[in-house]
Amino acid sequence: DVADEAALGAARVRVCARFRPLLPEESGPCGRITWDEEDAPKKVHTIGGRSDAGKTFEFDRVFPPPTSQQEVFEDAGLANFLDAVLDGYHATVFAYGQTGSGKTHTMEGFVYQAAAQGKVPQVNPSRTAPERLGIVPRCIEGLFERMEQQSLQSDKSFTLRLSFLQIYNEKIFDLLNPVHLTNHGASSGGNHGLRLRWNSREAAVSVENLFVFECRTPSEALNYYKAGVKNRTVASHQMNQASSRSHSVLMLTIERRSEASIDRTSKLTLVDLAGSERQSITGATGRTLQESVGINQSLFVLRKVIMSLAKQSRGASKLMVPYRESKLTILLRDAIGGSGYTLMLACISVLDSNWEENLSTLQYACTAG
Ligand code: ADP
Ligand code: MG
Repeated sequence: DVADEAALGAARVRVCARFRPLLPEESGPCGRITWDEEDAPKKVHTIGGRSDAGKTFEFDRVFPPPTSQQEVFEDAGLANFLDAVLDGYHATVFAYGQTGSGKTHTMEGFVYQAAAQGKVPQVNPSRTAPERLGIVPRCIEGLFERMEQQSLQSDKSFTLRLSFLQIYNEKIFDLLNPVHLTNHGASSGGNHGLRLRWNSREAAVSVENLFVFECRTPSEALNYYKAGVKNRTVASHQMNQASSRSHSVLMLTIERRSEASIDRTSKLTLVDLAGSERQSITGATGRTLQESVGINQSLFVLRKVIMSLAKQSRGASKLMVPYRESKLTILLRDAIGGSGYTLMLACISVLDSNWEENLSTLQYACTAG
């Protein structure tokens, strides 16, 4: 189809790996997965004699444990992403990895994230908040800076709109709509989630009845984001820690106007993916089992989609991109296809006890790139 054709050779996919440090309360052997000792490492190696070790995985960039939030932002190329968004391109960032691997730390970085889940915050609380900020707040700041700069330098004006949703068990819920936060998707006859709809005016898929907030300042946008994060935590308590089984999707849409009309719209989408761990069949029953199947489906399809796009960007032609096979990829179709930019951040724990999941993350991420 035409949209698939247009994507050929255009999409740009970057893949980075971030290792999270051992937390104060953790112990155990580490070191079966290592990285090159150099300033800007790109390679990860698996160690050991078993058949699944002795491999090398190559990334656009590898971030060893001491890497700061600021360095991840800079060295993963996010400034270029923001420039691209202001230039009218779509950009998407995914954090991928098992539960506990650092996805939410990387995307959000708020200290109350762990505290809200009833745990003691593990990040040293004496550190100042700005250092802890993850990709999302940095992107919000960066977009507003750029909008301001460009509106001073031209006759254009810019508007930023924000929406924040969660895909749980292949259903879409609005994290900023209070009606969605009770019992969402948990009861069989209850909330079925929002529907996806092809919007011909925008030539894109949109979510029906999703709240969209216009934000005039970074702090306004950040406050909506924080409200959604809080709502997600509340909802996950009602749903047996469903937050690890759902994808959170923050969408920042930039409209550019000259005189009275919109002359360009582009979108930055920031996705904290569901945990990539396999649910054990014996441990998962009823709703939980169904959920885990749903999530694996989304992650599985996302990989297929990104693989196809990556191959196309390396010059392969006429690949079928299976967007329609999951809610997440239908929703992100116009953002990650077309001439969009995509960054996949593979999050990995240094603990050897997470070996299986880490290996699967490396494999997922590397086939994606
Ligand atoms: P996920 O979202 O993948 O389940 P989290 O981001 O919640 O994982 O991380 C699990 C724990 O590890 C949290 O307590 C978080 O604060 C901590 N953590 C993750 N990454 C880092 C890091 N780079 N530096 C310090 N602490 C981290
Ligand atoms: Mg998380």
